[in-house]
Amino acid sequence: MIPLDDRDEMDDDTIHDVMESVNLREFEVVREARDFLQCTLNALTLSIAILDERGRILAYNESWKRFALENGGNPTSIGSGIEYLSICMPFFGDEGEAGRFVVEGIQDVLRQRRPAFYLEYPCDNGDEERWFTIRVTRFDWKGPMRVVVAHEEITDRKRYELMLAHLNQELQQEARHDPLTGLANRLQMEEDLEMMHGRVERYGHSFCVAFCDVDKFKPYNDHYGHAAGDEVLQAVGQTLADQSRIGDRTYRYGGEEFLVVLPEQTLDTALLTLNRMRAAVEAKGIPHEAKEPPGVVTVSAGIAEVRPGSGKSLDELLKDADDALYRAKASGRNRVEVHT
Ligand code: GH3
Ligand code: MG
Ligand code: MG
Repeated sequence: MIPLDDRDEMDDDTIHDVMESVNLREFEVVREARDFLQCTLNALTLSIAILDERGRILAYNESWKRFALENGGNPTSIGSGIEYLSICMPFFGDEGEAGRFVVEGIQDVLRQRRPAFYLEYPCDNGDEERWFTIRVTRFDWKGPMRVVVAHEEITDRKRYELMLAHLNQELQQEARHDPLTGLANRLQMEEDLEMMHGRVERYGHSFCVAFCDVDKFKPYNDHYGHAAGDEVLQAVGQTLADQSRIGDRTYRYGGEEFLVVLPEQTLDTALLTLNRMRAAVEAKGIPHEAKEPPGVVTVSAGIAEVRPGSGKSLDELLKDADDALYRAKASGRNRVEVHT
């Protein structure tokens, strides 16, 4: 720096020399600062470009260059001065929709309609599907409008998230299904019944439920063994499901009891359905020598209905069906009774 007090005593040549050296030094300082910034940008793993107010690339880092080349860009579509908005579309998939969405997002930031834009997107480079984020933010300074576009690869995180979502879906599925019969279980049944019961008053949709219970199953287990008993439960569950109408649903309620839910059915039609189910189980002809008199595996069922205006709770509905089942058992088994 030039000491101010000495200025008057300097001759023109000295001033010229000093000025030259100052300019040179300033130039070096500026160059050093620029190199320093470029090195800083290059050291980042984020792929970064700075755009001007028209969306042209002013500067970018090494990672940006690599990112563009790895994802279908060519050397002419990377450099400074390129209009990013016109070349970025292909990075966001073939359909164009995501590309348009991104272009609009960047334009919104450039026109100060929103402070930032963020999107997670898949990018298939032909070998594998990878995931990235794009984040567009305004440059906070006093000069002309500038925005920073940053792409970041998040494939590992995304794969992990997708795997978790998949596992979660499987767990949900598992938690609501009975592993032995493959039927929906009681948890699923309770959720479905809540929903259907809510519709009775709201939409006037009545429905029926039926408990269906294997007759004399304890002696069957005692005689043939638990594994054979399990096979009977699988066969009965499958038969009930096969005989359902579209919209009906069969659940394993627990033990050797099943619950059939029959939406939009009256007691008459539900009775027909349950008798068809009962007959189909009997027709399978699974020997049951351990009951009196010996015969084949059969089921008994009890049906109840809930109608709009009845004010019947779910618990009362299930209790009604259970009472009807009790009567079916008491009147000799292998039969269907209706709660009236
Ligand atoms: P009822 O005709 O009155 O229904 O007589 P039941 O013998 O079928 O009735 P009970 O309730 O006395 O016996 C039910 C049996 O079901 C007892 C139990 O050993 C058997 N059971 C419950 N769950 C399972 C299961 O998952 N597998 C097998 N194999 N047996 C089961
Ligand atoms: Mg039983
Ligand atoms: Mg039982």
